[in-house]
Amino acid sequence: MQIIKEVGKIKKIKITVVDRLGKKGCHRGMKVGMTFDYEKDRGLMCPMAAHIAFVYADILKYGGNFGGETPYKTRFCCSDPDTVIVYSIEIVE
Ligand SMILES: [Zn+2]
Repeated sequence: MQIIKEVGKIKKIKITVVDRLGKKGCHRGMKVGMTFDYEKDRGLMCPMAAHIAFVYADILKYGGNFGGETPYKTRFCCSDPDTVIVYSIEIVE
């Protein structure tokens, strides 16, 4: 338990709206440039995007990474095919 607590203290996870691929704007008001602290602000995100972010945040929180050139940063998107809001997620110290 103590290890998990320490890891959680060190790693701050930031989510940023970086793009929109769909034709319509997000019905939850997500716009490019918005940022969220995963621990504090995820309740303000589109609920579906926050749900998807959970998987990525869990990987980062517990010491995993995504490989490639920026192993502690990746992108994901909301599953709404009309809006397809793209988010980046990364560890910031
Ligand atoms: Zn959404």
